[in-house]
Amino acid sequence: MSARDRRVAIIGGGWSGLTTAVDLTLRGFAVSVFEAGAEPGGRARRLRLDGHTLDNGQHLLLGAYRATLDVMATVGVDPKRVLRREPLALRLTSGQAVFELRTPRRGGRAALAWALATMKGVRTGDRWRALANARALRRLPTRDQPARDWLAACGQPQVVIERLWGPLCLAALNAAPEHASARLLARVLQEAFAGPGASDMLIPVVDLGALFPRPAREWLIDRGQRVDTNTRVRALQAQAQGWRLDCADTVFDEVVLATDPTAAARLLPGDDASRDHARRLQALGAAPIATVYLDYGPDDPPRAPMSGRLDTPGQWVFDRRLTGSPGVLAVVVSGHGPHEGMSRDALARAVSGQLARDRQAVPTPRILGVIREKRATFDPRPGIESLRVGTEGPRPGLWYAGDHVDTGLPATIEGAARAGRLCAAAINHGSSRQ
Ligand SMILES: Cc1cc2nc3c(=O)[nH]c(=O)nc-3n(C[C@H](O)[C@H](O)[C@H](O)COP(=O)(O)OP(=O)(O)OC[C@H]3O[C@@H](n4cnc5c(N)ncnc54)[C@H](O)[C@@H]3O)c2cc1C
Repeated sequence: MSARDRRVAIIGGGWSGLTTAVDLTLRGFAVSVFEAGAEPGGRARRLRLDGHTLDNGQHLLLGAYRATLDVMATVGVDPKRVLRREPLALRLTSGQAVFELRTPRRGGRAALAWALATMKGVRTGDRWRALANARALRRLPTRDQPARDWLAACGQPQVVIERLWGPLCLAALNAAPEHASARLLARVLQEAFAGPGASDMLIPVVDLGALFPRPAREWLIDRGQRVDTNTRVRALQAQAQGWRLDCADTVFDEVVLATDPTAAARLLPGDDASRDHARRLQALGAAPIATVYLDYGPDDPPRAPMSGRLDTPGQWVFDRRLTGSPGVLAVVVSGHGPHEGMSRDALARAVSGQLARDRQAVPTPRILGVIREKRATFDPRPGIESLRVGTEGPRPGLWYAGDHVDTGLPATIEGAARAGRLCAAAINHGSSRQ
């Protein structure tokens, strides 16, 4: 049977499922994507709030996102047009306290040393200690452990862990360094400082759906593929040859579970091997991200596209002027914490109070909304690697995509895109052997 004769069902139209679909299309497969939501994009999708086009959560991409940038270009999106590229520059404040770190425009392997040598907001002795020990950060620890212990063992001073690595770890992994996997953090640092431009920040200037999910859907439909939104797959049934989905008449040769791990576990059949996989998928756990949207009005002066906080509950503040909403700020609250026990309104008021402390005569913003994603990422705790699945499912013809597939990366858009690529390559390889 040639690739053209093989029918592939992809359950989930997030970034991973759509990347799988695009790659399989390029290889000649007939694909059908089934997405439960009203539009594609999953955990990185467009959202409308009170007349503004926003996102389910503020996202930041990196220059190191090779697979993401590549698949965007494949479906006709020019990354230069939809992403604002800037060398990594962090400014975190709380009252009078300011921490700053910049990387040189060229980036690359020497960029980290340059950034540590020139960072502001820590004492000279701490800066030089961080710099002198920076080489240790390039090595992947063989034994996983809390990222905080690893950073300390790598000779990073406590104040540098608090002001630099802590906020970066929360942003990249969605957990504070005391709860996060050192191996995941080390992998992010390796990728971000691997070569020129890799550590650049890519800030979306369009909504997340326009970056890839909607163009990908159109690209697939133009090539005769099927993309059904508002279609939740509730059951999978093994047939003598292939698989049947409750929402379609076709028998599929291959089925890709490109959902979050919990939904994938629910869809697996009831045999022993599948039950074992389901247990692993459930054990990946989850960590939340909340995004607070505050509207200061269109006359609010422009701010830095992204700035950080050394206090709580808000961690990163993005000016949504970039996406056409002047005066609107997106404030990100990543990971577990006391904010989970607060009502939406209380969290929004705490965040606006936090921002007001640093500026005088601040108008009270209108609260546009608080989006809580309880299962934003898998729980990036130490040892999590051993629970991640490969692309091969428990039964022939069952495959996984999704950011929880073991790419070595945390749950990110790039992890999702790479998993999609790996999944498509594995299906292609499998079918070429038949
Ligand atoms: C608030 C927030 C902020 C984030 N910030 C960043 C960031 O700054 N940078 C970054 O790189 N990453 C970030 N991430 C992570 C990133 O969004 C995810 O890693 C990525 O989108 C996961 O894509 P995916 O395709 O693997 O999964 P998903 O996006 O979860 O896609 C799975 C899809 O499957 C669908 N589905 C589920 N069950 C069924 C079913 N039974 N039938 C049909 N369809 C089904 C869902 O509706 C969903 O669309 C953030 C995530 C969140 C939530």
